[in-house]
Amino acid sequence: MRELQLIGPHRLEWRERPDPTLRGPRDAIVRPFIASRCDGDTLPIHRHVSRPMQAGLRLGLIDPIVAGICGNVPFRGPFGIGHECVAEVVALGGEVTGSAVGDIVIVPWAVSCGDCVECRRGLTAKCSTTSAGVLSAFGFGPASGPWGGMVADLLRIPFADHMLVKVPDGLDPLRVAAASDNLSDAWRTVVPMLEQRPGGSVLVLGGAAQSIGLYAAGLAVAQGAGVVDYVDHRTERLEIAEKLGATAHRVPKGKLRLSDLPGRSYDVAVEGTSTAAGIDVAIRSLTPGGHCNAAGYYLPPGTKVPIMHMYGNDATLRVGISHVRPILPALLDFIAREDFPAEVVTTRVADWDDAPDAYRERTTKLVLRRPRLGAA
Ligand SMILES: [Zn+2]
Ligand SMILES: [Zn+2]
Repeated sequence: MRELQLIGPHRLEWRERPDPTLRGPRDAIVRPFIASRCDGDTLPIHRHVSRPMQAGLRLGLIDPIVAGICGNVPFRGPFGIGHECVAEVVALGGEVTGSAVGDIVIVPWAVSCGDCVECRRGLTAKCSTTSAGVLSAFGFGPASGPWGGMVADLLRIPFADHMLVKVPDGLDPLRVAAASDNLSDAWRTVVPMLEQRPGGSVLVLGGAAQSIGLYAAGLAVAQGAGVVDYVDHRTERLEIAEKLGATAHRVPKGKLRLSDLPGRSYDVAVEGTSTAAGIDVAIRSLTPGGHCNAAGYYLPPGTKVPIMHMYGNDATLRVGISHVRPILPALLDFIAREDFPAEVVTTRVADWDDAPDAYRERTTKLVLRRPRLGAA
C-alpha cells in the first residue's frame, strides 16, 4: 500500500509499505479518506530542523524529552507523516463490538488502550500500555511506534473499541478533518475554562499553532465567550478569525509585546505563537485567577515563565500534550448540534493523489480527500 513519507525538508513522496493486517481480535483496519496537516507537521517540512535539533539536543539547548518523542535524530526521513484523519472501517477483529465495517470514524493521533491507569485518568496520550518511550502515535517516526503516518491507504488500529470514535450521522467529515488532533487540542484550551467562567473573555495569540489558534477562537465564540480577541500578524489567519466571529487585531511580526494587545484583561489566554514572549504576554494579560493555555512547542530546556507575576495575580499556566480521545465525543456532539463551521479554518482542500506537493504548501490548513470506498 501507499503511504505519504517525509523524505527531507520540502520533499515528500508516496512510498510503498506492506498492507497492515489484523494482528489481534481487538484490532481494526481503517481506510483514511480525509487527512489534514497538523500545525506541527509544517516544522520539519518547511525548515531544515533535523541537524539543528540534533545539535541542540547534544548541546543541551533543546529539552531532552524531545528525543523521547522524535528520537535522537528528530524528523530524519523517510518516515510516514500525518496524524489527523477521518477514516472508514474496512475490517474488524472478532472481539470488536463498537464498530461496523463502513462506519466513519475519527482516529486519535495518539495510540492508547483505554484501560491503563493513565488512560482511566484521561491521559490517553500518555498510555502506559502502548507507549514504550514518551509517546505512541501516528506520524512521528519510529521513535513513537510502528503505526506509520495517516496519509496512507490503510491503518491498523489496536484497541479499536476504545480508539475509534464514530462521526455522528449527517456531520460532514470535512468539517471534522482535524478532530484527531488540532481541533480537539483547541477545544481543551478554551471550553473547560469557559464552563467555569461562562461568558468569560478570551485572548488567542495566533501564529505557529496556526489552526489550533483559529479553532480555539471559533470555539470560544460558539461557547458564548463575552470577548474573543484574536491577535496575529498574518492576514489570512486574521480574516479567518473574523469569519469565526472573533475580533481580529493585527500586530507587527516579531517579538510580541504586552503593549501590542488590545489593552483588556482576559479570563483565558491561548498561547499559539510557540515563543517565550507569547507565554509572558499571555500570562500578564490575565484577569485574577485567569488561565493561560500554551498550545505551542517550547523546545529550550529553560523557557522563562513570569512566576512572581503568576503568584501575585493567581494565574494558572497549563502546558501539556493533548489527550484527544476523551474529548472527542463531546466535541463531535457539539459540532453536530451547534453546526460549528470548523471547515472555515481550511484554506486548501487538495486531491489525495497530490499529497506530496500539497503537503508542502504554505497554507494555514491543508486537507486532503479522496472518495470513500463504493462512493467513487
Ligand atoms: Zn499534531
Ligand atoms: Zn492506556
